[in-house]
Amino acid sequence: MSTKQPDPGPLHEDMWIDGTWCRAAGDQRFAVFNPATGEPIANVSRGGSEDVDRAVRAARAALGKADWRGLTPYQRERLLHRLADLVEADGERLAALESLNQGKLLKWSRAIEVGGGVQWLRYMAGWATRIQGSTFDLSVPAPAGVRFRGTTLREPVGVVGAIVPWNFPLAMAIWKIAPALACGCTVVLKPAEETPLTALRLAHLAREAGIPDGVLNVVTGDGATGAALVRHPDVDKITFTGSTEVGREIGAQCGRDIRRVALELGGKSPVVIMEDMDVNAAVEAAAGAIFFNHGQVCTAGSRLYVARSLYQPVVEGLAALAEGLSLGAGLDDSADMGPMVSAGHRDRVRELIDTGREEGGEVLAGGERYDGKGYYVRPTVVANPHNKPLTLVEKEVFGPVVVAMPFEDLDQAIDQANDSIYGLGASIWTRRLDYAQRAVEGFRAGTVWVNAHNLVDPAMPFGGVKSSGIGREHGEAAIEAYTELKSVCMGF
Ligand code: NAD
Repeated sequence: MSTKQPDPGPLHEDMWIDGTWCRAAGDQRFAVFNPATGEPIANVSRGGSEDVDRAVRAARAALGKADWRGLTPYQRERLLHRLADLVEADGERLAALESLNQGKLLKWSRAIEVGGGVQWLRYMAGWATRIQGSTFDLSVPAPAGVRFRGTTLREPVGVVGAIVPWNFPLAMAIWKIAPALACGCTVVLKPAEETPLTALRLAHLAREAGIPDGVLNVVTGDGATGAALVRHPDVDKITFTGSTEVGREIGAQCGRDIRRVALELGGKSPVVIMEDMDVNAAVEAAAGAIFFNHGQVCTAGSRLYVARSLYQPVVEGLAALAEGLSLGAGLDDSADMGPMVSAGHRDRVRELIDTGREEGGEVLAGGERYDGKGYYVRPTVVANPHNKPLTLVEKEVFGPVVVAMPFEDLDQAIDQANDSIYGLGASIWTRRLDYAQRAVEGFRAGTVWVNAHNLVDPAMPFGGVKSSGIGREHGEAAIEAYTELKSVCMGF
C-alpha cells in the first residue's frame, strides 16, 4: 500500500442550479460512500421534482438569453477549451476524488476520467465552429419564372436532460455535456447517486471557465430524480446511459411525450479468440477485456469464445492470471483491481456467480466470498465447455466475471457471439485478415474491435444495436444528436 494518499480536494455536497450552490427543497440528503471501506464520505442533496423544475427553468432561460445561443461558435469553442484546461489543471485532485468515490484504480481515473475527459472536451470544442447545413436547388415547377432553393440549418436541440451511470462518472458526464454545449444546447445533468462528486466539481470548474449561469446545471439524486427530469415537459431531449431496464422505461416515457431520446444501455460483449493466436497473448487479451475497471464496463468482454484447439490452455491461463490479481482500494497503487461500486451491486454480482455455479458453470478462479471491509469481488473465471444456456451467459453482470466457451469454426463463433439480446461491442483476435473481415461483417454490434477491446475515441461513434440502445455518441454523430435540422425553402 502506498503511504502517500492523493488529495481529492474540496467536496461539493449541494446542487448546482443557475450558477448557485443550492440545497434540495426540504434539505433532503443521501450518503455517498467509499466503496473500498464502506464508510460514508459525503452527504449530498437529494433533488426532487421541484429542484429539477428549477434547473430546467434555468437551462431554458439560459438557452433563450443572448449570453449562450448568442455567443459566436468560436466563443463557445474557447469556453470549452478553457474548461478542458481547468479540468487538466485540477486533474490530480479530480482523479483522486473519482478513485475515492468510485473505487477505480487511480491510473484509470487519471487516464480515462481526467485524460479522456480533457480529450473529449477539446475534440468537441473544435466542432463548435464546424457545424454546417447544406444548400440544394429544388425542382418545384410552378409558378412559372420562380425558382426555389433549399438550405438546411443545424440548430441546437434545446434543453438537454443528461442522466449518467456510476462506472465512468466524470468521463460520461463530459461525453454528454461537451457535444451538447458545443452545439449551443443547455444541460441539466443527473449523475448517478453512487458517484455524484466529480460532476459537482465539474460544475464548479465550468463556472470558473466562464460558462454562463444556467448553461450547465447539476441536480443530484437517485432514480426518482432522474425520472422527474425525464417527465419534465420543458426538456427537449433526454440522453441516458445506464441499464437496459431503466432505458426501456425512459424510452417509453419519451415516446409518449414525443421527446427526443438517446439510450446507451447494457451489453454482454463477446470476445472471439481464433486458433492462430498465441496463447499468452490470448490470455492477456481476454483478461484486459473483462477485468478493466473491475468488469464495470458496458462493453466488458464477459462472453469469451475460444477456438477448440486453444480452449483449455487459454481458460487455464486466464484462471491463473485471475488468481494472481490483488484487490485493493483505487487509491492503493499496489492493487490490480478495486472494489465494486456499492454493497448492493456487489451482492448482485455474487448472486449471479452463485446462479452460474448452480446451473453447471465450472468456477475455475474467484467465486468465493470476500468478507473483509469494502465491496470486493474476486475476478471470476467460469468454464462452460458444453455451451450450457447459463444465466451468466445471458445476463449482464457488470462485474469481473467471464464465462468461457469453445467453438469449432468462425461461423459458429459468430452465431454464438450474436446469440444475445445485446449488441454493444464485440471483438475478434486473429492475425488472419479473412477472419477479421468476416467477423466485422458478421457481428451484430455497434462497435467491432479487431485485436482490441473496450477502446473508445472521441472521433469514433459509439452506441448499441438491439437492446443495447438507440443513438450514437462521439464523432460527428454526437453533433447530429444535439442539433435539429431545419429546412429553409426560398423562392426567388
Ligand atoms: P441504472 O440504469 O440503474 O442507472 C443509471 C442512471 O439512471 C443513474 O443516474 C440513476 O439514478 C438513473 N435512473 C435510475 N432509474 C431511473 C428512472 N426510472 N428514470 C430516470 N433515471 C433513472 O444503471 P447503473 O446500474 O447506474 O449503471 C450500470 C448500467 O449502465 C449497466 O447496464 C451498463 O451496461 C450501463 N452502461 C452503458 C453504457 C453505454 O454506453 N452503453 C456505458 C456505461 C454503463
